[in-house]
Amino acid sequence: MPDFRAMTLDEAMQFAEAQGWPRFRGEQVWRWVHDQGARSFDEMTNLGQKTRAQLAASATIGGLEVAEIQTSRDGTRKLRLVTRDGKSIESVLIPDGDKTTQCISSQVGCAVDCQFCATAKLGLDRNLDAGEIVDQVYLARRLLAEAEPDRRITNLVYMGMGEPLHNYDNVVRSLHILTHDKGAGLSQRRITVSTSGLVPKLERLGGEDVRPNLAVSLNAPNDGVRDQIMPINRKWNIAKLLAALRAYPLEQRRRITFEYVLLAGVNDSLADAAQLGKLLRGFACKVNIIPYNPHPEAPYARPAPDVVAAFQNECKRHGLPTYLRTPRGDDIDAACGQLANRVNGAPVVPLRVRKGTPPAPAVE
Ligand code: SAH
Ligand code: SF4
Repeated sequence: MPDFRAMTLDEAMQFAEAQGWPRFRGEQVWRWVHDQGARSFDEMTNLGQKTRAQLAASATIGGLEVAEIQTSRDGTRKLRLVTRDGKSIESVLIPDGDKTTQCISSQVGCAVDCQFCATAKLGLDRNLDAGEIVDQVYLARRLLAEAEPDRRITNLVYMGMGEPLHNYDNVVRSLHILTHDKGAGLSQRRITVSTSGLVPKLERLGGEDVRPNLAVSLNAPNDGVRDQIMPINRKWNIAKLLAALRAYPLEQRRRITFEYVLLAGVNDSLADAAQLGKLLRGFACKVNIIPYNPHPEAPYARPAPDVVAAFQNECKRHGLPTYLRTPRGDDIDAACGQLANRVNGAPVVPLRVRKGTPPAPAVE
């Protein structure tokens, strides 16, 4: 049955027509779901009983259930959400002054297999559908409205579980739904999609009429290091990635963000910083330095604070704008790279721990 949570406004109006109703009825239902946050047709009080019964017989409102909410000592909240077929995913709410950023998931697990990432250890279970992607925002809004009525979600980042561009169609659909001014009305300037660098999909994204900010997980200043920690680099190396990004149509005054996870002894030397500076010279970008967030499945360590500071200084000396990301919610495994459906340190689904050299990329 068609799912109103995953529909665009246009599709909702077409649905109404197919039922023999005026198109505006489709818009009414769509707004209930995507603006007012209705979770069942029964809540749609301005529709007659007969209409609601017909809706319930011919369509659904998909979505997620909240299974668990953990709150960090820094105010970060991690939501564990469960799909209709019983899969767990996570979403994180990060307060920062007046701003609140929500980090959402795009897949159950991830196929990309970056060596430092806890989500990678889950492997890929399945893509989230567009309704499951947008419902993370609606559930978080509802939670905030109850817990902190003065707070609103101001920024959205596709940086939770999964590789958004591996679930391209549903992610683009979710962007259309979330930015529609008759729905949640989020500004595309305040939405960031983060990718490990799927070159053909990046090229396609540049042609869409919805334009989120772009973040790219670079994590290394050369192919030698990137091959080791991100197997996807053997498919699309740094040169191919940067060429695609150079061709990416950026809106005026916008920059691409590069994420750089600092791993002790792997990519954190002054020479690495200098090489990164040279690599990105002249690029309209900024670099977010993310000191590695530890988790039990990866053999890495976070560099000491003086090493992090020296790395950042050396980047700056080479003219690279850098920002240091302080870990948020790391006491509840909610920080970057720690999302693995873990509660009190124990996984709720078994993790796949691999030893030895990384396998060839299991991605198209
Ligand atoms: N799949 C997408 C988005 C989710 S990952 C991507 O890779 O871009 C979000 C960010 O977390 C990425 O920049 C990734 O490099 C970073 N990350 C992964 N594991 C990490 C860890 N253990 N510590 C710090 N950052 C990590
Ligand atoms: Fe997937 Fe991103 Fe983790 Fe890599 S860093 S395994 S792409 S979620």
